[in-house]
Amino acid sequence: MVLLIQNGLLIDPANNVEDRMDLLVEGGKVAKTGKRLRTPRAARVIDATGWVVAPGFIDLHVHFREPGREDAETIESGAQAAAAGGFTSVVCMPDTQPVNDNEAITRFILERAAQVSPVNVFPAGALTSRSEGETLSEMGMMREAGIVAVTDDGRPVPNAQVMRRAMEYARRFDLVVMDHCEDPQLSADGAMHEGYYSTLLGLRGISPVAEEVHIVRDLLLAELTGARLHLAHLSTRGALEMLRQGKKRGVAVTAEVTPHHFTLTDAAVVGYNTNTKMKPPLRSQEDVRALIAAMKDGTVDAIATDHAPHNIIDKNVEYDRAAFGIVGLETCVSLALDRLYHRERVPLRRLVELLSTRPARIIGVDRGHLSPGAMADITLLDPERSVRVDVERFKSRGRNSPFHGWELRGAPVMTMVKGRVVWQA
Ligand SMILES: [Zn+2]
Ligand SMILES: [Zn+2]
Repeated sequence: MVLLIQNGLLIDPANNVEDRMDLLVEGGKVAKTGKRLRTPRAARVIDATGWVVAPGFIDLHVHFREPGREDAETIESGAQAAAAGGFTSVVCMPDTQPVNDNEAITRFILERAAQVSPVNVFPAGALTSRSEGETLSEMGMMREAGIVAVTDDGRPVPNAQVMRRAMEYARRFDLVVMDHCEDPQLSADGAMHEGYYSTLLGLRGISPVAEEVHIVRDLLLAELTGARLHLAHLSTRGALEMLRQGKKRGVAVTAEVTPHHFTLTDAAVVGYNTNTKMKPPLRSQEDVRALIAAMKDGTVDAIATDHAPHNIIDKNVEYDRAAFGIVGLETCVSLALDRLYHRERVPLRRLVELLSTRPARIIGVDRGHLSPGAMADITLLDPERSVRVDVERFKSRGRNSPFHGWELRGAPVMTMVKGRVVWQA
């Protein structure tokens, strides 16, 4: 299969390219890029005039609920949501039932993905057995089976000594440790950010300090052990300061920010819509400003969705009893284009870095670039296309999005994996 993508704005930060160019795909790989490439016979031609052609987007943080909670999401439905959101690869968190803490589960996920997924599914394994924070998981065996990271996302390791050993162990297998930063005693039964709105709404708050205390501990442990640390869903201004200091000291630390944390503030909780409830919680305006600035200046490495589908019965209850988390795969790219590119003037090139180039490096996969010979995982965007978010049209089984009905400017238009078009607007 030969495919020629013509006239797009090619943005490939890894090769320092941002130019109007054609891209030729042959045998599932990038054959070449250049100005006015000759159209080979029998080639399918895609006219990308007005579109951005980027290395395939990689979401470092999704929750597919298989095995165990297929009513909320399956590998198939989640992967289709990813393709429809412009993502060619996802990293799925290990908090399934059972937890992905051993090679049998890892193999199950990969085999299932090979059968049903249009996108690359890279599993993350648990840090500790059953993510209970006590004994270490079988990282080596899982690494051989195909995990790309380790994490106890959702259940942060409370014991610093266990975390130290886990980091040492992860380092032996060159696995990045993805860290859900939350001190569970400090966050206690909190349902939202602690501040004016939590008082107004009579909901128990979660202080930014619950996140920051944990970051300080793990930055120190990463420095001590030499482990690679990736801070998941970073949400506070203070946390960004710590990230900056850590990077300055030479700690091997990276961080991701979610679209909901750079778009919404805790004011969105007014009205008690349970689709504004997640961990960490929506923060203050000041935090949002700081997150956007840190994405602009490159302090933050990645945009990741923390796509967390829930069954309606887990969300359709009183606010403080509702499950934490929202879906994000099918709104992420439009939110990034609308909010960051159009409104905040974050350059497209930076967005491609945040959504592809750097995520690929963080998990150490040969993706995130369009060099000749690279796997032809490609995301095409129309920065001007207006879309209206409609949860009823999601490929995901989850409907729990706070963005239903939003009009957004900019959207993915085509997703290509290994040279095959897997989704088209
Ligand atoms: Zn988390
Ligand atoms: Zn998560």
